[in-house]
Order: sequence, then structure tokens, then C-alpha cells
Amino acid sequence: MQPRTPNRQIALGDTRTGIIRIGGGLPVDHPMADGSKAAAPISVQTMTAGYTHTIDKCVAEIHKLTAAGADIVRVAVPEKKDTEALAEILRQTTVPIVADVHFHFKRALEAVEAGVHKIRLNPGNINDRAQVEQVIDACKDASIPIRIGVNEGSIIERKDKQARAKELGAVFSENKHGYMLAIMIAKLEEYLDIFYERDFFDIAISAKSMDAALVIDAYTEIAKRFPHPLHLGVTHAGPKETGCIRSVVALGTLMANGVGDTIRISYANDPIFEVEDGLELLYTLGLRERIGAELIACPTCGRIQVDLFTLVQEVNEKLSAEIVVPMKVAVMGCVVNGPGEAEGADVAVFAGDRKGIIYVQGEKVATVGEDEILDRLLSECRAFQDRVRSGEATLGQKRVDIVPPDPEGELGSGWEKMAAERIEKSGHTPLTIEGQ
Ligand code: SF4
Repeated sequence: MQPRTPNRQIALGDTRTGIIRIGGGLPVDHPMADGSKAAAPISVQTMTAGYTHTIDKCVAEIHKLTAAGADIVRVAVPEKKDTEALAEILRQTTVPIVADVHFHFKRALEAVEAGVHKIRLNPGNINDRAQVEQVIDACKDASIPIRIGVNEGSIIERKDKQARAKELGAVFSENKHGYMLAIMIAKLEEYLDIFYERDFFDIAISAKSMDAALVIDAYTEIAKRFPHPLHLGVTHAGPKETGCIRSVVALGTLMANGVGDTIRISYANDPIFEVEDGLELLYTLGLRERIGAELIACPTCGRIQVDLFTLVQEVNEKLSAEIVVPMKVAVMGCVVNGPGEAEGADVAVFAGDRKGIIYVQGEKVATVGEDEILDRLLSECRAFQDRVRSGEATLGQKRVDIVPPDPEGELGSGWEKMAAERIEKSGHTPLTIEGQ
């Protein structure tokens, strides 16, 4: 992991929502220094999927996303009726709200007037200098930041794109995305000049694309050139299944290289998944302290003798609902590699032939039948959480080495069945062997 790239910190929110800071850490002698000593933790944001003007539904969606862990929520304001709804939405919600302005600068002015916490402008769509200046001045008066989003989709709508590409492509001729990178950077430079000339520096930048490799290259180049926090995202990433891979590859690579200050994963799905997966990405990279349990589970193999996939699914759902301390919980299919692979787990189960042995910080506490594994494992997790909260137990403290049980004894491992290749695979699908 590389250290975070420093930039000029921005802040959004108020006394009701709390303040979310993005970026930071420039040296004090930098012309854009803001006094922040270090970069703020990377925040997770998302965007509502419903209409902003349907106030009750919009507020309900924002509450749901906030409860899931969103630090910032963005809403679209394509029409005046949307900006007219903002004041009431802001009154009823407790998270910083960003107004996404696409086509008309007046929506930005109305959103600022309503008290929104940040504006997102698209240089591809709002490029009349006088209009941009009006928005900048309004945001400056209201002390709120602006995100400049130079998405690939809006850039390629430029009428002069061919000429511009030729003119600027030489700058990045070595890079397969050279033309597009050059256009994005040139567009940013032009746009930023308008902001700087009006002494406006509370800026975040995004440069999204549906191409994960272009996203990596674009943000890497932008981080070298502009001292502003970066909002990372792969746009139009598709359904959750494939969008997750695209987003995690691009955003994970950038953040591991120290690039990125706030993230939005975007799926063609319920935005709650964007929040959950954004948080999980930060937890996985160690960029945020986990809230709730971390589940370790084996992928299963031919040694499995319980319905592990169903068990893991059920354990995951229950832990998400009930456990808030960041304990490690392991669900392992057998004792062959289980103890070693679950090293460091606070609560663990190792399954055998329709049985499971449960350990708490290395101490064996129960051997139960397959039907009882879920309930007993969860009750041990709840009890362990209580002990952590009361100070009786410490997370990650393995007090006793796990001694694997005798695979032919205590767990009734079904060694004979395995030898006869008649074990059942997870999901109760019998493994049929030719000739048996
Ligand atoms: S823990 Fe056991 S069942 Fe699970 S993958 Fe490892 S060896 Fe296979």
C-alpha cells in the first residue's frame, strides 16, 4: 500500500449532519495548503435511484442508504421541481447531500439556495463561462465545495473531439488511452482556470469511464497534476455481478497506490449494494476500521460433509444483523486445513460428518450436530461480543492454539465414506461416482 497522495482538503455538511472531510495533507508551504495535517479517511458515497421531487420516497431512500453506512448521498436535480424539494429533504435527513447538476446551471443556483452541501458540475454540459462563474460565486458565498466531473461520456460529446484528440494525443502517445486522457486533462485545466480566477479552490475532481483500465490511467495522471481530492468511480459499470469486478479492480488498484479520497461504486441495481460493497472494499484494503464481523469461510472441496454454502449464507445474514464489533468469524468445512486457515479467528466452527466443533479464541466450547451449528455459533458470537464490550475479552487475541480434532474420532469425519467417494457435496447434491 502506498501512502495517500496529498491534496487540498474539502469539507461538507453542517451541525445537523456532521462534517465529512475529503482529502487533505498538503505541506504547509504548498500554495493550496489548507492546514490539514493528514488526508481524511476515504468516504463512501452513493446516489439515490428515485426521483428527488417525490420527497417522502427520496427521504426514505436517503435514510436507508445512511443506515447502510453511506457517508454522503447524491441526488439528481434535473428539473426545478427537484431543487424545490431539496430544502425539505435536507431538513429531514442527517447525511451531507450533493446536488448533481447536469444540464442547467440554474438548477445549481437553486440547489445552493436550498442549502445543499455540495454541487456536482459536468463540464461537458455546463460550459458557458458566465454561467459557470455564477455557480462558482454562489458556492463561494455559501462556503460549499464543487465536484468537477469530466466523465468520458460527456467529453466525447464535444464537437471538436477529433481535432482536440489529434492536438493533445501526442502528450500521451505512449498510452493506449492517450487521446482520451489528453482530452480529459485539457478539459480539466480549462475548467479549473475559471475556478482559480475567481479564487475558488474547494474542488473535488472525478474522471469516470466504463473502462476500468482508462479509469486507472486517468486518475493516476490527474493525481500527479492537480492538488484536489479525487472522487473515484467506474461509471455505468453494469449489473452488480460484473460491475463489482470492474469497480473493485479500478478503485482497489488506485487506492492501493494512494490515489482516491472518496468513492462511489455504481451498479444497475439497488444503491444499497454500492454502499455495502464500497465499505467492504475499504475494509479489505485496511483503509477503514470495520464495523461488524468479518466472515472467513472455506471455498469447500471434496472433503466437505455438511451443507456449508447454506450455513455460510445464514451465518453471514445473521452476523450482519446482530454483530457490530469487528470480530473474525470462521466457518470451515473440515479439520484438514480448517484450523490453519482460520488462524486468528475469534469464533470458529470446523465441520465434520454432519457435526461441527466450535471454538472461541482457540478454546473448544462445543461439539454440535449440523442442525445446531448455526444457533450455537451465533450464540457464541453474541456472548463474545458482550465480553468484548465489557472489556473481558480482546479482539484478535488467540489464547490457546487450536488443536485439530482427530479426523477419524471426535467429528466422525466419514473417512470411510470419503475413501469410498460417496460423500455428498454441499447443497445436498449426491456425488455419484461411475460404477458405484
Ligand atoms: S477447510 Fe476443508 S473442506 Fe474447506 S476447502 Fe479447506 S480442506 Fe476443503
